[in-house]
Amino acid sequence: NQDGTHIEFDELKNKIKSFPLCMKLIYEKLIQDHHLKHQGRIQLGLFLKGIGLSVHDSIRFWKQEFLKKMTEKDFEKDYIYGIKYNYGLEGKRVNWSPYSCPKIIGLKPAPDDFSGCPFKFLSTHNFKQILLNLEQKPNEEQINELISLKEGGHCQVACQRYWDLVHPGLDEPLNKLSGIEHPNSYFKYSEEYYEI
Ligand code: SF4
Repeated sequence: NQDGTHIEFDELKNKIKSFPLCMKLIYEKLIQDHHLKHQGRIQLGLFLKGIGLSVHDSIRFWKQEFLKKMTEKDFEKDYIYGIKYNYGLEGKRVNWSPYSCPKIIGLKPAPDDFSGCPFKFLSTHNFKQILLNLEQKPNEEQINELISLKEGGHCQVACQRYWDLVHPGLDEPLNKLSGIEHPNSYFKYSEEYYEI
């Protein structure tokens, strides 16, 4: 990818823990349905490209799930073009950048499509359920803060607080910024955390 990072297909499973919530939910939807709608494919596909997955491995990634529900022939007919398009190998041949947070927050996910930013589109009830199911159990004060940021429309600040919550034990929290600005930055900070 542009900054020279590279990630192998076989490493990907271990990296899911570093995905921001938006990408984690799309990924879980893919694993559950063995399919994803267009907007989710672009959002997750460009993110994966941004973390350094090659086009070859990206095709393997999508194939692994989609072939549980369709033939290889249909997959190749309907989906290879879009994957290569993201990498600038088809159509306009633009090296498309992964979506930033403001871009994702501005998306309008179709019903039952987990694209977009969950700090915006999730109901408070579903958001709270996600927090309660986290391995790193938040206390009531943290839950209330996150819900109030979410309800106030402060998606990127809420996302940063969420990052702090799921990456505990740092002497200095990730408070360098006033909010997460890019899903790929969220991932990068998380990678750094796990490397400490
Ligand atoms: Fe994803 Fe950005 Fe929303 Fe966080 S704030 S969930 S990284 S779109």
